[in-house]
Amino acid sequence: QTKDEGRNNFSYYHEAMKDHSMEQFKLSNQLQEALEGEQLEVYYQMQMDVLSGEPHGVEALIRWNHPEKGTLSPALFLPLAEENGYLHEFDEWVLRKACIQVKNWQMEGFSNLSVSVNVSPPFFESDHFETIVNSALQESGLSPECLCIEITENNAIANLKESIRRIRRLKHKGVKVSLDDFGKGYSSLTQLKQFPVDIVKIDQSFVSQSNGNDENAAIVKMVIDIAKMMKLRVTCEGIETLEHYDLVKKQGCDFAQGYYFNRPVNSEECRELLAYMNNTKQF
Ligand code: C2E
Ligand code: MG
Ligand code: MG
Ligand code: MG
Repeated sequence: QTKDEGRNNFSYYHEAMKDHSMEQFKLSNQLQEALEGEQLEVYYQMQMDVLSGEPHGVEALIRWNHPEKGTLSPALFLPLAEENGYLHEFDEWVLRKACIQVKNWQMEGFSNLSVSVNVSPPFFESDHFETIVNSALQESGLSPECLCIEITENNAIANLKESIRRIRRLKHKGVKVSLDDFGKGYSSLTQLKQFPVDIVKIDQSFVSQSNGNDENAAIVKMVIDIAKMMKLRVTCEGIETLEHYDLVKKQGCDFAQGYYFNRPVNSEECRELLAYMNNTKQF
């Protein structure tokens, strides 16, 4: 009896694992189709200017509208895209798409709107990266000052010196660079000192766990103070409540982003939200 149960248990996990890798395998094979079949979509989330309470820009966040599975989040498929060598193409697609979209919104009257695009280390470090950025700016007509490249604080950056030179060249063109998920890694301050970025995005965990947690609130304050000393601007992510917003406002953060303002939405909804936020000025 117990033996049987044991065996069943074993085969249950075994089957579950097989199912899981089967799913992954299927998804991997559909990546190319996603790219070519217009199943990828860019969602947008507001980045609020804390001083004015108006949208400063939007962050572009990729989604996969899978024909059977519905909308898939990047955490689920970007690792597969990376394994299968598609990460470049996905990143490039988002960059081009987002520049065109935001330029359109600017022409509709949201004139100073900026766009932040996430860039994976292999794309950022690839030989073509700067050419692709230039081409995305040219074909969209977006001015470089309105584009922000988000790099993740990450040990995946292989060639530090070349990356630093690359950031300098981007900045020289007017493109902004931000360090995403700051504080998550362990070499944060070193990287902040090394990378000549314009904006630091404090990892959302510090803000979302700041409720009644003085340590996290103190960390947020410390990072803002250090950034100010380095003449950098600070974005706080993961603003989910009015309390979060009040806290980071009080501490002098420049930009705020999170579910409190909006969940990431598709371009039509974002267009409506922009109009609504500009009219109501509720933040
Ligand atoms: P990220 O760049 O740090 O983006 C912020 C993530 O936090 C987004 O998840 C967003 O939906 C989520 N978020 C926003 N506000 C809140 C909040 O108030 N509370 C909580 N709990 N979460 C919030 P998403 O869209 O699932 O993206 C996850 C990550 O995937 C991104 O983190 C980014 O690292 C990566 N990613 C997304 N799009 C792209 C892309 O086009 N290229 C690359 N390379 N990476 C991307
Ligand atoms: Mg980001
Ligand atoms: Mg982040
Ligand atoms: Mg990230």
